[in-house]
Amino acid sequence: MIKKIVIWSLLILCSNEAVKSQSIMKHELIQLPYAANALEPVISQETIEFHHGKHLLTYVNNLNNLIQGTKFETADLETIVKESDGAIFNNAGQVLNHNLYFTQFSPTGGGKPGNRLAEAIDAVWGSFENFQKEFETAGVGVFGSGWVWLAADQDGNLSIVKEANAGNPLTKGLKPLLTFDVWEHAYYVDCRNRRADHLKSLWSIVDWKEVESRY
Ligand code: MN
Repeated sequence: MIKKIVIWSLLILCSNEAVKSQSIMKHELIQLPYAANALEPVISQETIEFHHGKHLLTYVNNLNNLIQGTKFETADLETIVKESDGAIFNNAGQVLNHNLYFTQFSPTGGGKPGNRLAEAIDAVWGSFENFQKEFETAGVGVFGSGWVWLAADQDGNLSIVKEANAGNPLTKGLKPLLTFDVWEHAYYVDCRNRRADHLKSLWSIVDWKEVESRY
């Protein structure tokens, strides 16, 4: 009888370990869907190499280290952003934000959104051009480091959301669609202090098909 209990305990222990090691989430640096120089002259190769290869990599490594032994060890990125705070939130937020940021650009981007998204933008801002103006103004108006977002509520209604530091509209129950990074590391190499010029130039590389797919 005792022998049986010991064997069962061992089996349970082993299977728990197996499940645990399988489900631990190892967050990875995303691959860029374009070459490092493909977004020039809007975003230089040097900026991409620092922004993606150094800043984002640091957030990914920090996140993987910080979640070890916490309840977020097995959670996906969006869950961590919605439920964490402090250093874990800051690093998870920055990973999610940059994943959305880097994958929304394309060397063949630009133009205007179409379909449902275009109609929803017109419904709030009257025209795409007016939306662009409001979005840029919001981005310039973020004090210090942060992000400006186009976000949708559960009914598809759009809004422009300003977030400080690692903020993401997910924490307000909104779906993030498009974002411009206004941390200085995003533009200082290419535009120095001219944040407004940088934000204006980003429209020509926005991949609206990708943004529409998030809506
Ligand atoms: Mn950044």
